Amino acid sequence: LVELRDVNKHFGDLHVLRDINLTVRRGEVLVVIGPSGSGKSTLCRAINRLETIDSGEILVDGEPLPQEGKALARLRSDVGMVFQSFNLFAHKTILDNVTLGPVKVRREKTKDAKERALALLDRVGVGNQAHKMPAQLSGGQQQRVAIARALAMHPKVMLFDEPTSALDPEMINEVLDVMAALAKEGMTMIVVTHEMGFARRAANRVVFMADGQIVEEAHPEEFFTAPKSERAKDFLSKIL
Ligand code: ATP
Ligand code: MG
Repeated sequence: LVELRDVNKHFGDLHVLRDINLTVRRGEVLVVIGPSGSGKSTLCRAINRLETIDSGEILVDGEPLPQEGKALARLRSDVGMVFQSFNLFAHKTILDNVTLGPVKVRREKTKDAKERALALLDRVGVGNQAHKMPAQLSGGQQQRVAIARALAMHPKVMLFDEPTSALDPEMINEVLDVMAALAKEGMTMIVVTHEMGFARRAANRVVFMADGQIVEEAHPEEFFTAPKSERAKDFLSKIL
């Protein structure tokens, strides 16, 4: 469903993505892990075309990433993204946050979009918060709204970039539980996270990145218990 072929990206002299080759099949949950600065966020942003690449190819559902206009807007709904900072529209209610995209981009009727938004908010456990403003919600609740907002666009794949790293510890699990449920339902997901429990529970595959390269790719159990590369061993000894 998502395919990267020999992808390279520089920021000036910095080679942030080096010959990245990666395929994520439909229904697969891929966890990306690696030290700070290894290029994990850039990889996610490139798949959503929030970042351009210098060479190589990225295909989503067999199509090369569009450059602009309507096709780009469609790609952004096909590829849902959830960031570390929840990025909700601060001056819109929770319900509006989830309804706006479907109405404006997907041209859904407001009534239908609202109905579906409420169902999605229920599903992530914040149905009773629909008429509040984002600032009135806890971080964990806001992040679950962000997930509902992405889902409202009927994405083919969901990207999560450290979705729980800005949260207080007691809120981490409520977000991971929503993500694990989504994984179980068959959503294709690329998740940047250091939450090993989640990786073990939900991931089909772990990719370890360092210095812009994919250093190791393995089944989660295998990766966490017997990493092959020195870089991964070193990294895991620091975070576990
Ligand atoms: P973290 O775990 O800290 O989030 P990361 O693996 O997500 O790190 P990236 O954010 O992808 O890493 O960044 C990779 C490298 O590219 C870093 O050295 C970063 O400083 C640099 N970088 C990222 N965005 C830009 C930018 N817009 N301009 C210049 N350099 C950038
Ligand atoms: Mg990052």
